[in-house]
Amino acid sequence: MNSDKSSSKISKIERYRENILSISWDMSAVCNYSCSYCDPCYHDGRDKMPSWEATENFFKQIREQARGKRVWIEMKGGEPTLWNELEQFLDFCKQQDNWDINLVSNGSRRAKWWQDNYQKLSAITLSFHAEKAEVEHFRSVLDEIGRSYKASVLVLMLPNRFEKCENAIESLRSEFPYVQKSPILIMDPFNDNQIYNYSAEQKNKLADLRKWRAQIDKLPDNFQHVPTPDLCKVFYDNDHNEPRTGGEILKSQGLNRFRDWECQAGIERLHISTDGTVFRGQCKNNGSIGSIYDDKFDLPTEPTICSFETCHCNPEICISKAPQEKPKATEITI
Ligand code: SF4
Ligand code: SF4
Repeated sequence: MNSDKSSSKISKIERYRENILSISWDMSAVCNYSCSYCDPCYHDGRDKMPSWEATENFFKQIREQARGKRVWIEMKGGEPTLWNELEQFLDFCKQQDNWDINLVSNGSRRAKWWQDNYQKLSAITLSFHAEKAEVEHFRSVLDEIGRSYKASVLVLMLPNRFEKCENAIESLRSEFPYVQKSPILIMDPFNDNQIYNYSAEQKNKLADLRKWRAQIDKLPDNFQHVPTPDLCKVFYDNDHNEPRTGGEILKSQGLNRFRDWECQAGIERLHISTDGTVFRGQCKNNGSIGSIYDDKFDLPTEPTICSFETCHCNPEICISKAPQEKPKATEITI
């Protein structure tokens, strides 16, 4: 453990678990909710769900080119459980060696749907959107997945539904102690992505709610727990290194700056946007590298040079990266 992190700089980052390709997939702009704080590009219906033919062709190419790697796919963006081909896709992934799915959902499907499908998933992230969601329904879903499975619930803390959100966290946490429930501060896409105004009392309550942690260190034997790939090993310029999450680096002021560094985005991670365009990461460094609708897709084999002042996304901070090697001075013999 580094004893003097405050005065040291990060000299490189390595992904904690090697040989991973993680794919963040915003599947469409189709959703059965239209939350007031959601950017319409995730629910206005303009980008439809992907076709099965394109999806199968794209992921077969990933299978060929990422052979030997663990593939971690995070399905989100719009509401992925509305995709007619979802179950077929989960079956396809289940047949591959070492593929994991983290399904990010508003949890609105009936408990029976979750009962039928949860075993095909490695992780489930449910978002509680208080303008539509009801605690009773979440309880029935977690009854299927939360007593024998590692799930997490993100509660979007809308200031004008604060009490409902608070009650959801309190009631679910007493009943499902092994399920992580995180209160999430909401940003307003119509106000420059500023965080909503919370009253002083709400801020105090949020501080208390955020202290609570799921008891995942005491998971019963029958619980499955697949660790997420979003952990990295951070090396400091004083020769120390330690495991950190992207979130921890983001919070430690100024450590998330990697401009001009060589970054393995595209090799360790891909991002697919709602219209099927593929990027090296959500940061979209150097633009598109293809589309799931292309007949032929080639995974990058060379790192990219970061052109951003800061790296904002927790999982992308965990991508391996290091400063570019300075060209060696050429020796001239006369
Ligand atoms: S459930 Fe998610 S995708 Fe759907 S409208 Fe709400 S925030 Fe947007
Ligand atoms: S912003 Fe993108 S390219 Fe830059 S370090 Fe982060 S993931 Fe890599």
